[in-house]
This record gives sequence, structure tokens and C-alpha cells, in this order.
Amino acid sequence: MHSYEKLLLQNKAWAEEIKADDPQYFEKLSHIQTPEFLWIGCSDSRVPADRITGTQPGEIFVHRNVANLVVNTDVNLLAVLDYAVTVLKVKHVIVCGHYGCGGIKAAASKHDHKPVLNMWLKNIKDVYRLHRKELDAIKEAEQKTDRLVELNVQEQIFNLAKTTIIQKAWKKEQRPDLHGWVYGLKDGIIKPVFEMKAGTHIDPLYEYDL
Ligand SMILES: [Zn+2]
Repeated sequence: MHSYEKLLLQNKAWAEEIKADDPQYFEKLSHIQTPEFLWIGCSDSRVPADRITGTQPGEIFVHRNVANLVVNTDVNLLAVLDYAVTVLKVKHVIVCGHYGCGGIKAAASKHDHKPVLNMWLKNIKDVYRLHRKELDAIKEAEQKTDRLVELNVQEQIFNLAKTTIIQKAWKKEQRPDLHGWVYGLKDGIIKPVFEMKAGTHIDPLYEYDL
């Protein structure tokens, strides 16, 4: 059996198990999607949003990319954000990074990861540059990248607040709150590191007349 065929088999077993417990489960779920949360997380296979938060299908709307970045030219992310905030009307947007993130480590090194990855990781190098003084003062390598993980999450929260999607929802409906979290691969615990309540004022340069 090929490895991918095992996934299909496991899927069947999973669906049977759920149906045995609640025969209407899938039928009910197919008609509703009213998640309260948008999750922007890392693509890392060890950080599954629903598993680590104990949530069920239908509860979290998810977007994942390398190192959980909010890039203002990323149409994919912006489409997810717009749909979640404007149509699904989520109450909370969570950016969740994780300690030991390979993307963060790669961005902190001088290694050439070739054009596409270099382009993406440059966004994290910008975060490092903004906080160079604090980061350069940390001598221990793991501590340094862990702190960069936290600062990266914080900057992505600012990037969310800079979008007209968030600013419009804040102005009209006083939601969503923005949460910056970091997941620990070693202990499975999520640590909140930054928060921005709906309506928080940011640098006026980024605030639009809406
Ligand atoms: Zn990662």
C-alpha cells in the first residue's frame, strides 16, 4: 500500500467512527459555518490549529503559510481575511507562531534559500531589523530565535491592523480582537504574547478615512 492510500483508509475509519457516535454529524455540519475565530498559523506539520486548541470542524477558519506572515500583497491571505472578517464576521483573529520555527531560523541566517523562499523570508528579516537592538543583545542562539518568533507574531498583528479590512470592521462593528500567540513544540502549551483590542489606534500614517 502507498503511504497516501493509508490516509484515505484512515479517513474512512474516522468518518465511520464519527457517524457511529452521531449519525447526523456530517449532515448538520454541512449546513453551518459560523466560526468565531480566524487562525493564521505556520504551515509546520506539528502545529495543527484544531488539534492543539481542542476545537471541532466548524469552529476555526484557518490560513497557514511559512512562519505565519501577514503580507500586504498576499492575495491569498487577504482573501481569507476578507471572507472571515466581512462575511463570516469572526470575533477574534489569532496569529499563532511556534518556537523552533524553521522559517524564522532560516530568515535569521545568511544562507541563500534561492529566490522564492528568499523573497518570503525577507519579510522576517525586516522584523529582525526593526528589533535589531534587542535581538543582537541576546547571545544564546535558541533564545534569540525564540524571541524573534514572538516579535514576528507581534509585527503580523500590526500588519493586520494596517489593513482596511480590519479597520472597517473595527469602525462599524467593534470587532475582531487580534491575538498574538506562540505555541511550544516541546510542551504543547500556547503562550499569549501580544494583543490588540478592536478599535486600538495605530500609527496614524496607517489609519484610513473610512
Ligand atoms: Zn514554523
